[in-house]
Amino acid sequence: MQTQKMTSTAALEILQTIYGFDEFRGQQQAIVDTVIAGGDALVLMPTGGGKSLCYQIPALARPGTGIIISPLIALMQDQVDALKALDLNAAFINSSMDAQSVAQTENALLAGEIDMLYVAPERLLMPQMLSLIDRCQIALFAIDEAHCVSQWGHDFRREYLGLSILSERYPDVPRIALTATADERSRQEIAGNLQLTEAASFVSSFDRPNIRYAIGEPDNAREAMLQFLDTHHEGDAGIVYCLSRKKVEQTAEWLNKQGRTALAYHAGLSAEERQHNQTRFLREDGLIVVATIAFGMGIDKPDVRFVVHLNLPKSVEAYYQETGRAGRDGLPSNAWMAYGLQDVINLRSMMAQSDADEQHKRLENHKLETMLGLAELTTCRRQALLSYFGDTLEEPCGNCDNCLHPPHTWDATESARKALSCVYRTGQRFGVSYVVDVLLGKDSERIQRFGHERLSTYGIGKEHSALEWRNLFRQLIARGLLAVDVDGHGSVMLTEAARPVLKGIETLHLRELTVATGKRQGSAGRRKRAMAEIAEHDQPLWNALRGLRKQLSDVAGVPAYIVFNDSTLADMIAIKPRDRTEMASVSGVGQHKLEQYGDEFLEVIREHA
Ligand code: ADP
Ligand code: ZN
Repeated sequence: MQTQKMTSTAALEILQTIYGFDEFRGQQQAIVDTVIAGGDALVLMPTGGGKSLCYQIPALARPGTGIIISPLIALMQDQVDALKALDLNAAFINSSMDAQSVAQTENALLAGEIDMLYVAPERLLMPQMLSLIDRCQIALFAIDEAHCVSQWGHDFRREYLGLSILSERYPDVPRIALTATADERSRQEIAGNLQLTEAASFVSSFDRPNIRYAIGEPDNAREAMLQFLDTHHEGDAGIVYCLSRKKVEQTAEWLNKQGRTALAYHAGLSAEERQHNQTRFLREDGLIVVATIAFGMGIDKPDVRFVVHLNLPKSVEAYYQETGRAGRDGLPSNAWMAYGLQDVINLRSMMAQSDADEQHKRLENHKLETMLGLAELTTCRRQALLSYFGDTLEEPCGNCDNCLHPPHTWDATESARKALSCVYRTGQRFGVSYVVDVLLGKDSERIQRFGHERLSTYGIGKEHSALEWRNLFRQLIARGLLAVDVDGHGSVMLTEAARPVLKGIETLHLRELTVATGKRQGSAGRRKRAMAEIAEHDQPLWNALRGLRKQLSDVAGVPAYIVFNDSTLADMIAIKPRDRTEMASVSGVGQHKLEQYGDEFLEVIREHA
């Protein structure tokens, strides 16, 4: 396959025969051409955009071995398995291997038998590894998860800084750095630290159109989540993020009791347990991982159909990155978040208590404000998200909760004044629940102890339920009209911003309570999977294809998606191929997989014809 004169035709042929895809996507073609021609490239593409092909195809088209630098040893096996399933010669060298396997791989490398080699940066930079590479023909260096070289970002790895030597030591080998991290500051740091300031830079839109965003404030988040999962994601794989380890454990246990298979993942588990749960999630169909943010980096699983947040993330960056793990395969997926008053109070007091320096605190607070703003938004969420990352979307997206079900707003000025003055009259030293009790005129021992049943605000709020009042308080806190005390008891106090509302100078329009969301977005009782394009009458075929895939992947000991991913199975259903030629036209069916699996899948399709 390694020809001397490489052209776009060679690249396209590789794409079609080996990968079984018809055409390049987005900027893939331009990137591939640049690197095949020997140029350097900096690639910023969202998760699921198709970064892997950008270095894999040049690695195949150019003579020699492609070296792929990746920070995650635990995932190298799956990456290599995916390439082997295409009949390519891929390998990795890392610290999990014994000396003999390392020696074998090194020999194969020297003999020029390896198309692609995965290594972690610390391994690559060892003197013996470099001297080995000196003696090989190298097609390219691909630096995956390149944001790890940025100290500003969240996944900084010191070893990545050492990669700058590649440009000096191998000036003739093209380098391609790839990341899904968007912001300008990280981008510049990546280019600087990797000596890629002269490289061609390819920045894609960060929109993930197949992900549907929904953020609600259900009364009972767990129940609402279950309803949402039952309505949209029966048997689908997904991730549920929680803030604390305890909540992770409890939620996983509860989901299991409800008949779903859920695994916990957090930093408090042993390394083996975490590895075990991660592997099960990757290999088995339809598992749910309930996790803290410790879970997720580099998870290549393409068919994560939903990401749920049971707590508010600390920043929009975190939210976007975590939700971005859904739908890498481009099929419809859901990002669903439930949050409430307690989230806002917890995060606010956590930040107030943090012992970071003032500047850092201000930054964190600003990030939280922005996240709260997104949660409370009444207009298109995707437009807001993209504009946050410097991208513009001209029209509302039509695929977020606010577009699909525009929330109602109401004039909350009068109610807000009641709430604020009740906070004031009770002395600004009580939590929301207590103040709500006073507004509702509850007959409680505690209220009497403080003599608050004699206040002018006692019982003036009977037009709203307790739930509605809590919803109102959440928005007052989110908008900064009330501050939460640092004492950890969550008492609320007025801020400067409350004054104009109290005085009646300013009016306040707030989002109406949206009770919740499992129901709200499930279009009138219709049982619909996220896999919208699988019609009801094709469900048996869909299940049969998934069953066969599971059988084959178990035999091969690889994750199911390595055999064929969901979008390939969906395409089989759309095309219903009758023979090998028709099967070859299915997206994701390349030459090798056609030979290996084609007949068995054809058989199943025939049975369901
Ligand atoms: P990223 O690394 O950017 O998150 P991947 O490289 O894992 O994305 O690609 C995401 C999915 O898109 C994979 O399932 C991949 O097979 C598929 N894909 C990539 N490029 C194409 C293409 N040109 N045509 C069809 N599918 C593609
Ligand atoms: Zn929208």
